[in-house]
Amino acid sequence: MKYISTRGLSPALSFSEILLGGLAPDGGLYLPEHYPQFSDADLTAMRGMGYADLAFAILSRLIDDIPAADLKAIIDKTYRADVYAYARSGQNAADITPTLKLEDQLYLLCLSNGPTLAFKDMAMQLLGNLFEYVLAKTGKTTNILGATSGDTGSAAEYAMRGKKGVRVFMLSPHKKMSRFQTAQMFSLQDDNIHNIAVNGVFDDCQDMVKAVSNDAAFKAQYKIGAVNSINWGRIVAQVVYYFKGYFAVTSSNSEKVSFAVPSGNFGNVCAGHIARMMGLPVDKLVVATNENDVLDEFFKTGVYRPRGSANTYHTSSPSMDISKASNFERFVFDLVGRDSAKVRELWASVDQGGAFDIKALLPKVADYGFISGSSNHQERMRTIREVHEKYAVTIDTHTADGLKVALENRDASVPMLVLETALPAKFEDALVEALGTVPERPSALQGIEALPQRFDVMDFDVAAIKQYIVNKVS
Ligand SMILES: *Cc1c(COP(=O)(O)O)cnc(C)c1O
Repeated sequence: MKYISTRGLSPALSFSEILLGGLAPDGGLYLPEHYPQFSDADLTAMRGMGYADLAFAILSRLIDDIPAADLKAIIDKTYRADVYAYARSGQNAADITPTLKLEDQLYLLCLSNGPTLAFKDMAMQLLGNLFEYVLAKTGKTTNILGATSGDTGSAAEYAMRGKKGVRVFMLSPHKKMSRFQTAQMFSLQDDNIHNIAVNGVFDDCQDMVKAVSNDAAFKAQYKIGAVNSINWGRIVAQVVYYFKGYFAVTSSNSEKVSFAVPSGNFGNVCAGHIARMMGLPVDKLVVATNENDVLDEFFKTGVYRPRGSANTYHTSSPSMDISKASNFERFVFDLVGRDSAKVRELWASVDQGGAFDIKALLPKVADYGFISGSSNHQERMRTIREVHEKYAVTIDTHTADGLKVALENRDASVPMLVLETALPAKFEDALVEALGTVPERPSALQGIEALPQRFDVMDFDVAAIKQYIVNKVS
C-alpha cells in the first residue's frame, strides 16, 4: 500500500516513510492510494474479535511494510486492559472501547479510558510503539517538538515516555492549563520528556514551534519531528473503534449505525469516513461542534471559511476550540473524486486566509452520510445535567456537545453511538458548574497535583528553545 498526497505533487510513499512526518512536501495530507474493502464475509469474521485482533485485521490491510508478526506484537502491546484502565465501574476494561447504553438506540462509545482520560490516547499510544519500532529498525532518532493547551501534549508524553530513540519537547502556556492537566504532564520524571512552560499564551507556543520547524537546516540537523493531528498514523488507529462500536450494538451486517463525533480538527470523524469507505455499514456521521462552528457552517452551506485566532472563542469544551480543521482536506479530496488539481485550487484561497464555496456538491456530501450541528455553553451544561438526571451517567463537556447534536439528528430505527472523547474528571471546573459536585476521578489519579513537578520556564524566544534542544540533545 502506497500513500499519496491530496495535492498530487509529492511522490507516493510507504507507511513507514510517512509515519514520522506531517504534511507532504507539496503541502497536502497523505491518504492511502485506495481504501481496502471489507466484504460481508470479512465483517462476519471480525464481529467476534477482541480489540487487538480487530485492530490487526484492519491495520494490516493498510500497513504492509512492517512484517505481520511485528505489527501484531506492536498492536498487542498497545491495546491492553492495563493501558486503558479507567473504564467506568461495571464496564470491562478489556473491551478497550466499551459501549454504554443510555437508552434503546442511544449509546456512548467510551474512548477515553487511556492514561490521559481523552480519546487521543487511542491513537497516540499506538504511535509511541510504532515510532520506537521504526526508529530502531532504521537506526534513527527523533526529537518531537510540540505545543499544547492540554490534551495533545499529555497524550503525546504518556505515549512517548521511556521510548528509545524519542525525545519530547512540549511547550505549554505557563500557568494557563488546568491544575490537573499541568500535574499530569509536569509530574512525569522520564529523562526523554521535557516540559517547557512559556511565559505567554498557546499561540505563542505554537509560533515558537512553527519558527523552529521553518528553519530547515536546524530541523534536519536536530531531527525535529511532530505528532500533530494530521499524522496519518493517528487517523488510521482511530478507524478501528468505529468497527468495534458497530459490532457492539448490531447483530447482523445488514444493520446500519450512526456516529456522533465531537469535532475540532476533523481527525476523529475523518477516521469514521474512512471506516465507511472501507465497507462499514454507517448511516450518518454527525459532526458536532461547539461555538467554533466552522465545520457546521460547511456542512450546512457548502462554504468552508476557516477563521483566525482573533475569531476563535475560548469555550468550556476547549479541545474543540479550533477554527481551521486540518484534516478536512482529506474528506474534500474524496468528495471531489480525488482530483488533486481541484484540491489545490480550493486550498489556494484557504492557504491565503480565504474561503471556498462548493455548494453544488452538497448533495454528494449527503451521500457520504455527513450531517452537522453545533452546541454552546448553556446547551452543554443542560445536556450534562439531563444525562446525569435521566441516566445517572456523568459526561464531560465535549461529549455533551456530541450528544446534544446527536439527539437533534436521531432516526428511531438506527442506533446512534456518541463518541465519548474525554472523561469528566478532566474538566472538573465545568462539571462543578453543571452539577454542583466534583466529578469522580480514577483512584490512581487522586492527589496527582501534589506530586513533584519537573519543568523549565522560558520566555517567548525562538533562539532560547533552539539552544535548549541543542543542550539536551548533545
Ligand atoms: C482533540 C479533541 C476533540 C476534537 O477531535 P478532532 O479529531 O480534532 O476533531 C474533541 N474532544 C476532545 C476531548 C479532544 O481532546
